Amino acid sequence: MKLYRVKKSNIDKYGKGLYATKDIKVGTKIIDYVGNIITTKQSDTNPKFDNKKPIYLFNLNNRYDLDGDVHWNTARLINHSCSNNCDYEGKGLKVWITAIKNIKKGEELTCDYGFSYDCDYKQFPCKCRSMNCVGYIVREGSRWRINKKFKKNNRVNR
Ligand SMILES: [Zn+2]
Repeated sequence: MKLYRVKKSNIDKYGKGLYATKDIKVGTKIIDYVGNIITTKQSDTNPKFDNKKPIYLFNLNNRYDLDGDVHWNTARLINHSCSNNCDYEGKGLKVWITAIKNIKKGEELTCDYGFSYDCDYKQFPCKCRSMNCVGYIVREGSRWRINKKFKKNNRVNR
């Protein structure tokens, strides 16, 4: 039995998400993240990858990227959360999704898409509604800077 099923998402109300079909232990590999392997040169020059859907593009090494924006890649449906319960793992040219917390049956599977602060993060508002939500989809290490910025803005507004 698969550990996940596709269902309407609670986070992305216009889209789908993946849900645990049973309790999943931390460290369990859940699904492969598949797609087309392209050269970094292709992703640099093809306008398809111009920031429109960077969330599907993985840098595998300095020669190859993985373009997961294909319909057979079920793992692309996993939504971002600032309190993600899964994360991407990879080795060589393979990428997969692993549970980083114990997940209860019926919970939505979430990953950290991880845009850096330097990227135009305001294009990607986050609606995960978790307590840790910073409002935008950004990599964990960059969040304190965003939080700081929010605080500053709030002060100015008052
Ligand atoms: Zn969030």
